[in-house]
Amino acid sequence: MSGLSARVDNAAGAQRWLREFEDTTIVVQRVRNPPRAEAERAAYEIVLVEFLNETHPDTDPNRCAHCGKIGTPDAFLLPIGWGDRNAWLHQRCWVPWRERRWTEAIAALAAMGITEPARRPSSLCRNRSTPTR
Ligand SMILES: [Zn+2]
Repeated sequence: MSGLSARVDNAAGAQRWLREFEDTTIVVQRVRNPPRAEAERAAYEIVLVEFLNETHPDTDPNRCAHCGKIGTPDAFLLPIGWGDRNAWLHQRCWVPWRERRWTEAIAALAAMGITEPARRPSSLCRNRSTPTR
């Protein structure tokens, strides 16, 4: 089990994130008045980012959080931070590390019953050309 999953692997954590998702959906509906499904999609994106921020790791500054290798003069480690927590990564490791974190966060939320609502093809096209925020 990854550290990310371990931090939220309990019923209280799942209940909290489910409540956060529902509360955020309600706020989106009050502010923008979209259909429920659209509000849930927006809430999902917000909750996913909040989850990633809250579970951001604080890693050993001498080892890459992705590949586990040390930093060298030609491949030094950079701090990727949120709040007072930093994950130390090689530049080439940042993208795969971020993608893995997103995949793990999506899986962790899904395990709590929070899944991304399906998008309609027409709304995908509209969202690409017209920001909704
Ligand atoms: Zn690395």
